[in-house]
Amino acid sequence: MKKSKLSVVMAAMVLVFTNALAQEPEVNQALLDASKAQQEALIESLRDMVEIESGSDDIEGLERMARYTEESLRALGAETQRITATNDVPPGLVKGVFKGSGTLKVALIAHMDTVYQPGILELEPWRRDGNRIYGPGIADDKGGIAVILHSLAILQDAGWDDYDTLTVQFNADEEIGSVGSGAIITELGSENDVVLSYEPSPSKEVAGAEGVLLGTAGTASLSLVVHGRAAHAGAAHEEGRNALIELAHQLVQTRDIANSVPGSQLNWTSAQSGTARNQIPGLAEAGADVRITQKGAAEALLEAVRTQTEKNLLIPDTYTAAELEVLRPMFEADERGRALAELAESIYAELGEGKLGQENARLMPTEGVVRRSLLLIPGTTGGTDAGFAASSGKAAVLEGLGLAGWGYHASHEHIEVDSIVPRLYLTTRMLEILGRNYSEAE
Ligand SMILES: [Zn+2]
Repeated sequence: MKKSKLSVVMAAMVLVFTNALAQEPEVNQALLDASKAQQEALIESLRDMVEIESGSDDIEGLERMARYTEESLRALGAETQRITATNDVPPGLVKGVFKGSGTLKVALIAHMDTVYQPGILELEPWRRDGNRIYGPGIADDKGGIAVILHSLAILQDAGWDDYDTLTVQFNADEEIGSVGSGAIITELGSENDVVLSYEPSPSKEVAGAEGVLLGTAGTASLSLVVHGRAAHAGAAHEEGRNALIELAHQLVQTRDIANSVPGSQLNWTSAQSGTARNQIPGLAEAGADVRITQKGAAEALLEAVRTQTEKNLLIPDTYTAAELEVLRPMFEADERGRALAELAESIYAELGEGKLGQENARLMPTEGVVRRSLLLIPGTTGGTDAGFAASSGKAAVLEGLGLAGWGYHASHEHIEVDSIVPRLYLTTRMLEILGRNYSEAE
């Protein structure tokens, strides 16, 4: 995006907020009615998808999910293609491209895989209980896919084409670190003005209101390798330099080191050393899970570990090497991402009392006007694909546009039914406004 265009778009977006906040928020009644009319169809699609088991290792189930989403996208008018994952693991990614007559290049992303093992549906079947629907993967992330598909159905019915390209992309390996899709999502981000990501929003019951996410953690692995000297444990143990003992010392002295590095978290989770009882081990290694919530924290953490391990040895003549590998980049909404979140907030404010129904909404009184509030959640220690989408710096990225729910990765995973209409309205209204702002800025 050109600088000048960006600033016009930003200005246009800011104007939208000012208008929305200054007056009685004005709802787009046609989109709201259409969102309400779409609720039951969304629940049906959601059931279809939840009843396809699709754990990250379940190639057959993921292939069914891929075919289901491809067919749904084609029925909506998209040209679909299958992208081979960079690690060649099937089914790869599903991509659907819509061509419009406007200017905005926007991508909507979600993931098809879940954390559950085959057979989970027998233990935890689809079940509706009042405002909740339970099922494996229903919030994370089949609800996100359903919001995308049914938002596009609404916009298609409305004849909306105020965009240049609208790309939908679903990957199949998010829950195992997006190892084969991360680079492809990074590329998608580099080709678009805006990427909206559809991980779930925390439930109203837990968070008090529905939300969007402004930050997600990066993940990394840190390894320590201690080089000592092997020796006979009985006859010549004094000639050995016990790498296992040195490793134990290094793990203990670095276990709290992340406390001194803001925005980092480290936990040692694996270790290996020794192959024979009667040999002093000459080599030992350990691995840690690392979470990053601040830019630069990964590098700072590695530096701190290296300094500490070199400075304080227990066993002379041993050498400890530390390496860090970033697995998933962190996501921190920039100025444009925050502008998207504020736009989302102003759209939620349009859903005031009497428009959505007070019984379903947590309402926040603002200057005499009753509005529906949206939480702008600064960050989470979970990692998502928003990190890849934002890593080129090209696209404005917002995360957490899926359905509101809770119990992800657990036996009580559920969505809140009363989040369906506001989430459909949020996506459709947001795309409508963004498409118009980008066209006007051209
Ligand atoms: Zn997820």
